[in-house]
Amino acid sequence: MSEPTLTLKPNREKSVLRRHPWIFSGAAARVDGEAAPGDTVIVRSASGDFLARAAYSPHSQIVARIWSWDESEPIDADFLRRRIARSIGARAALSETTNAVRWVNAESDGLPGLIVDRYADIVVCLFLTAGAERWKNEIAEALGSQKGIVGVYERCDADVRSKEGLKSVEGVLRGMRPPDLVEVWERAPSTPSHPQKWRYAVDVLRGHKTGFYLDQRENRKVAFEFARRQSILNVFSYTAALTINGWWNNPTEIISLDSSAPSLALAKHNLTINNLPINGLTEGNAFQLLRKYRDEGQTFDLVILDPPKFAHSESQINKATRAYKDLNWLAFRILNPGGHLITFSCSGLISEDLFQKIVFSAALDAKRNAQIIQRLSQASDHPVLLSFPEAAYLKGFVCRVE
Ligand code: SAH
Repeated sequence: MSEPTLTLKPNREKSVLRRHPWIFSGAAARVDGEAAPGDTVIVRSASGDFLARAAYSPHSQIVARIWSWDESEPIDADFLRRRIARSIGARAALSETTNAVRWVNAESDGLPGLIVDRYADIVVCLFLTAGAERWKNEIAEALGSQKGIVGVYERCDADVRSKEGLKSVEGVLRGMRPPDLVEVWERAPSTPSHPQKWRYAVDVLRGHKTGFYLDQRENRKVAFEFARRQSILNVFSYTAALTINGWWNNPTEIISLDSSAPSLALAKHNLTINNLPINGLTEGNAFQLLRKYRDEGQTFDLVILDPPKFAHSESQINKATRAYKDLNWLAFRILNPGGHLITFSCSGLISEDLFQKIVFSAALDAKRNAQIIQRLSQASDHPVLLSFPEAAYLKGFVCRVE
């Protein structure tokens, strides 16, 4: 039986030849043969040349996502095992640093729609596309058989899945159900007063994303570096990962601000297991509390802003821009002279260039002169395939104010 084939419109093969993994519905001329959502289709140019094998997503604007450009490579359990092993192998050096690692970063690891995060002996996955969903069983098998893994759990991003026509699901795929909290470690710079590992309890069942912000790993060290003998305001602190890194360098005070009571409760637990002070955990809306600090004249040496994603679609870019500007403007208003702002945006739709303009215009309006002294990005286990720049979403600056 011949494989189903997706044929492109004339002159629409260029992006596939340039190894971009997405085929938009507007580029597809027709599908021949029976192809259900998630099935593998052969992608051909209008003149019939083989281009790639891809997962078919008839309900999505991205109608196919490429698994392989190699004509001799079938898409099967063995293919998935090889890709997963390659992806995990590429992160081997990180085992010195932590036991919490993104094992698979979707398209950038040649596995479109699949996110896999490893927390100690538990693996948490997101199946975001019809293609990843189609191979769930084989993927779970490959992950469950990795050394040291006792459970494979599926989390769900309902918004993303619904664009692919997929229902919400969560649950155990292999082995044991994760405990309420999974504890992981991360190597810390050794200081005279503290041991060498940070500990974080991760709520893999209910926490954000798969439970923890693995993408901020390298930036946590930056927070550590700038914390020394400072007063710190960590805005959008979630479970206090950045706060823990800050406390380690003996600052004078840290206020950790978040609107979520459950996140703050876990933050308190995390500070406690690291023998760090739990004062300064503050529940509230960042926009309101930053205004209150400004009105009351309370200032800080270091402000960290790590807000949630503000721009989920093109239509939200303007509103998101205003929100980022407002936050950064408030931060500039409450920074002491010579102080630092560590500011992030995790909205993929806001480019680094645009974000720099937003932060600049916030400084201008706050009448502060500031310099970028360091540029920040997502951790090394969140790679960006060169042919797929869309994978870059996290950007940040360390700014020094005059
Ligand atoms: N910096 C954290 C991750 C931040 S995630 C880390 O490194 O782990 C974003 C956080 O912002 C979430 O914890 C969420 O509860 C919080 N949040 C969202 N909107 C908020 C608001 N308006 N005010 C305060 N916190 C908010």
